Amino acid sequence: MPDRILSSIGTKIILGVAVPAAAILTGMILFYSTHEEESLLKQNEAARLEMARSVIQGLNAVMMTGSAVMTQQFAEELKKVPGVQDFRILRNDGLESFQDNKTIDEVNSYRDKIVFKPRDEELEIRIIPADQPALLKALESKEMVSYAENVENARNLTFLTPIPNQDRCHRCHDSDVPIRGVVKLTTTMEPVYTAIQESRDRAFRILAVALSALLMLVFVMVRRLVVAPLTLVTSAMSRVAAGDLTIQVPELGQDELSRMAKSFNHMLTQLLHTYTGFQQERNKLNTIILSAREGIIVTDQENHVVLVNPSAERLLGKTAQQIVAEGFLHILDDPEYISSYINHHGHNHPEELVYKGQVLSVHAARILAPDGTPIGSAALIRDITEAKRLEHELRVISYTDKLTGIFNRRRMEELLNAEFDRAVRYHYPLSFLLFDVDHFKRFNDEHGHDQGDRVLQAIGALMKEHFRKIDFPCRYGGEEFCVILPSTPADLEGHGAWGVADRFRQRVEALVIDGLKVTISIGVAVYPLIKIKDPSEMIKVADNALYQAKRAGRNRVILAQSQE
Ligand code: GH3
Ligand code: MG
Ligand code: MG
Repeated sequence: MPDRILSSIGTKIILGVAVPAAAILTGMILFYSTHEEESLLKQNEAARLEMARSVIQGLNAVMMTGSAVMTQQFAEELKKVPGVQDFRILRNDGLESFQDNKTIDEVNSYRDKIVFKPRDEELEIRIIPADQPALLKALESKEMVSYAENVENARNLTFLTPIPNQDRCHRCHDSDVPIRGVVKLTTTMEPVYTAIQESRDRAFRILAVALSALLMLVFVMVRRLVVAPLTLVTSAMSRVAAGDLTIQVPELGQDELSRMAKSFNHMLTQLLHTYTGFQQERNKLNTIILSAREGIIVTDQENHVVLVNPSAERLLGKTAQQIVAEGFLHILDDPEYISSYINHHGHNHPEELVYKGQVLSVHAARILAPDGTPIGSAALIRDITEAKRLEHELRVISYTDKLTGIFNRRRMEELLNAEFDRAVRYHYPLSFLLFDVDHFKRFNDEHGHDQGDRVLQAIGALMKEHFRKIDFPCRYGGEEFCVILPSTPADLEGHGAWGVADRFRQRVEALVIDGLKVTISIGVAVYPLIKIKDPSEMIKVADNALYQAKRAGRNRVILAQSQE
């Protein structure tokens, strides 16, 4: 390809320089050749004219002898002269003289004796028509007239010279006409045209040699000064395109091409610098990706997995080859899940899921080019099993009362809010027990605070054991406890809230801790037995009932009744 471009540039330069130069050269040579042809023709014409004059003078001299035979002989001899095509003596009407007895008869009659013996055989040979313009002109002007004509592809030059009727003629001829006849001398132009042709051939040979030399010179110069340096740069470009950024192009001279080479070298240096920087960054990134604790899987535009780091292999329990072979959608063995996650989830919401006994946080997203076109996908996988365990532990701690191990007051409020909402929405009955250890201040005073704590712990343990799994035993604060009983009415053949509360009261009463015993008083609030509008009112209602139980002598259960 570069070679073709270069040769094309070379051709263009050669065409641009050599063609105009060749045209000028050809024009000059043609001009001089034409000029030379004209001058050759002129010289030839002058020479022919001179020759015609000399011939006519010779003829005149011969004719003056009065011998027609000698004149004819002279004419025949003249025809043999090189360059003379034809030589004839014509009468004024264009017929050849000395072929019939017309003149002989005239002369014999004029002289009144037989001067010339008549010919035995007469001929009438017309050489030129009687009205030929050149003939008429010669007769009229009495001057030599010349004209050129093509005869059988040969160019001839013919001179018509009138023979004046001089005094000397009157010996044999009448003086009635001013011109006795016309000498026709036809010379061939072939030698001069041959000379012209030779001159032309010479000119074209010179032209061919000059053009060849010019083309050769331009070709060599273009190759040396343009094509060769360009080839250096383009072959260097090809090597750069193939990935070799370390090469440099020779910078010879100060012309445009060497400036181009300098710019190219500068560009390469910059490119190499940037490329090295990129490589270093890529290496860093690779190191980060390979050593990352997060699993990283990246695909290309066609969704082929192109990168799997060791953490991804470890977390998914698969080799990189396996992951590549199975494809991106199968990384969690659930292609529908990954597909819908990528297509419908926001890009910034990691999903938590359990996979092979681990809690994983998976963040999968499409990678988009700046113009928004997808160029691949990536998944970031983190093992959050330990974090989840700690989080759970923390949550349990935050919900649990430290002393008794049952729910604390904060959790109780959350649970009561949720259960109250559910009861109102689904018309379930909801019961709430609030109880308080009787005379606990005195107990503490008598047996010590630690002993008091052990009693509270024992009550907590009993609550866990006594109530149903769906109930929520909580420490309300101090020596006060409460229990949320979902879907529990006030009394249901002994299984209602009051019955459960009273049995629990009895169990506390029966409980012996370190040889000591306590009793509790319980207030019970039941929705919708009593019109209660919110959870805090439920607590208040239960607290009132508890107060009544205390007032009524303690160690008893009071069910809050409707005020109406
Ligand atoms: P009542 O029968 O009227 O409830 O009498 P009471 O003495 O129990 O009444 P009060 O509510 O005035 O006293 C509660 C006592 O409970 C006061 C406090 O010393 C004791 N108490 C509260 N929280 C704890 C605790 O966590 N541990 C111990 N050991 N005692 C506590
Ligand atoms: Mg109290
Ligand atoms: Mg008390």
